[in-house]
Amino acid sequence: MINTYQHLNLEGLPLQLDGQSLPLGKAVCVGRNYLDHIHELGNQVSERPVLFMKPSTAFAHMHQPISIPKDQGECHNELELAFLIAKPLYQAQRDECAQAIAGVALALDLTLRDLQNELKQGGLPWELAKAFDGSCPISGFMPIEYHEQRFTFSLTVNGQLRQRGDSRLMLHPLLSLLSYISHWFTLMPGDVVLSGTPKGVGPLKANDLIDVELHEHFSLKTQVAR
Ligand code: ZN
Repeated sequence: MINTYQHLNLEGLPLQLDGQSLPLGKAVCVGRNYLDHIHELGNQVSERPVLFMKPSTAFAHMHQPISIPKDQGECHNELELAFLIAKPLYQAQRDECAQAIAGVALALDLTLRDLQNELKQGGLPWELAKAFDGSCPISGFMPIEYHEQRFTFSLTVNGQLRQRGDSRLMLHPLLSLLSYISHWFTLMPGDVVLSGTPKGVGPLKANDLIDVELHEHFSLKTQVAR
């Protein structure tokens, strides 16, 4: 039972949605999905989606104080739209992908940027920088039927707007992205797909006050743990 590990912040997960309880799955994430963010980090646009994963142990409740690793260099915010998968997707087409999406949430793809840069320079995988315990604080899911509707979202740190995102600006739109993912990794009910961050990533510090908003739907206040 994963919830017996009390250093993890998983109480209340698996995910509840409309009375349906889903197992807590993996997070499949896409990097470099917004041009403004690619430019701010000086990365190249890649034709195929840059995918990586976070394990179920990475999830944490966003409304609880967010723990960031100490003495590991800068830990950056990356606010992203997160979509909950409720049906298995294996080599799926776009319409099948649309029917499998059950909810939308906001998630932080916390990233140890200094460590990630070091790993990138060494040609090594990113897991240590991206997939550590608690690296994916996530809000509750809002149930949706997905029909390529637009979502806009924002992140404020200590009262200063840091990130604004618009789903229409994704380089790989969600349904193409899910279809692509499903040709490499079968998506299972309870899996979550993080759809990339817009520009405005930056270091988080102890006690920072964080406001996230999925415009016209919900907002949430939280803070970085001391
Ligand atoms: Zn990200």
